[in-house]
Amino acid sequence: MKLSPNYAPCFPGEYWRALDREHTYPTEFVQSLTESGYLSVMVPEEYGGVGLPLGAACAVLEEIQRAGCNGGACHAQMYTMGTVLRHGSEAQKQKYLPGIAAGELRLQAFGVTEPGSGTDTTRIRTRAVRDGDDYVVNGQKVFISRTEHSDLMVLLVRTTAREECEKRTDGMSVLLVDMRDALGNGMTITPIRTMMNHATTELFFDNLRVPVENRIGEEGRGFRYILDGMNAERILIAAECIGDARYFVEKASAYAIEREVFGRPIGQNQGVQFPIARAHIQTEAAAAMVRQATSLFEAGEPCGSEANMAKMLASEASWQAGDTCIQTHGGYGFAEEYDVERKFRETRLYQVAPISTNLILSHVATHDLGMPKSF
Ligand SMILES: Cc1cc2nc3c(=O)[nH]c(=O)nc-3n(C[C@H](O)[C@H](O)[C@H](O)COP(=O)(O)OP(=O)(O)OC[C@H]3O[C@@H](n4cnc5c(N)ncnc54)[C@H](O)[C@@H]3O)c2cc1C
Repeated sequence: MKLSPNYAPCFPGEYWRALDREHTYPTEFVQSLTESGYLSVMVPEEYGGVGLPLGAACAVLEEIQRAGCNGGACHAQMYTMGTVLRHGSEAQKQKYLPGIAAGELRLQAFGVTEPGSGTDTTRIRTRAVRDGDDYVVNGQKVFISRTEHSDLMVLLVRTTAREECEKRTDGMSVLLVDMRDALGNGMTITPIRTMMNHATTELFFDNLRVPVENRIGEEGRGFRYILDGMNAERILIAAECIGDARYFVEKASAYAIEREVFGRPIGQNQGVQFPIARAHIQTEAAAAMVRQATSLFEAGEPCGSEANMAKMLASEASWQAGDTCIQTHGGYGFAEEYDVERKFRETRLYQVAPISTNLILSHVATHDLGMPKSF
């Protein structure tokens, strides 16, 4: 599957640059992806989707990035949908999935991070207290992306205080929040301007009422459901980074062949060639890890470590490739119209979100190598 020939001309650099300057959402791009069915490739056929495995969604996102576009505007639907699919009731699936598949409902928001908990998700304090047929939600989330462009949000809350739980991962629940009902009725959204155009926001909950029937799965088991979705999230984002890395390698190679200085192409100098070749090698090695993690995920095997390793290697490969691409372009790498600096800023995010590199190293050190936990 290659989107580049169709998507790059429809959504070229000028389109993304204009949005980037104003920090506006790529509505037309997301609409086009939705109408073409690419955003719902993983929704099973019985709910109106195409029913393809994770690898197909990876191919879609990788090609979007490789074409110079930014899937960060809509990639969440691919993994948040999985939370409903794997852990939702049949009634919830019937209610939401056909609408998502048809492009009538957007499930683009995933609310986990809080100012006070950081990476330590078990310390989230957004609290949902049962009151009749509703939960009453109070608290705050930060860096929650696409909330202004989504109809639904998968929200992680505490239904039992951490101190009252036997295990710190217990006592959390997942609610499916209808943003259209919530906005102005207990939920406030405040945009956060970031280094790149990512439509991220801060959310405040002040006695927001969410029907109990919108809880996904059992009360208190939400952390497990979220973790399940996180493997898909990491693999999909790793695939996006591979797309970014290939974009940079291809762009750097083309420029190195075309640009002449000292009467010959700069790419004839090994000092210019070698970093690009190295970026290519690192990209292909990371891509192999992404494929391995994808195969395990698709086979239903445990893949936490492989998903983490794929995300780390791919995000570092795309960053290295971006750095090399800027260096190859010299001064032009910093000029907006070349798109390199924009892509470079965009791909930097993935060494921090959705999980930072240190936390991946810590996971591998303790889970795979048996070293003692540091936290
Ligand atoms: C643009 C953007 C979009 C985002 N979108 C979403 C979203 O849609 N939904 C959502 O829920 N979240 C989202 N996030 C949040 C993102 O997942 C978090 O920023 C990320 O998980 C890191 O959490 P933190 O910012 O609180 O960093 P902290 O947890 O405060 O960590 C800060 C630094 O310290 C390091 N660190 C912390 N503890 C340790 C340790 N024990 N050992 C070694 N190093 C450590 C971390 O690796 C990190 O580098 C987004 C963030 C950004 C910037």
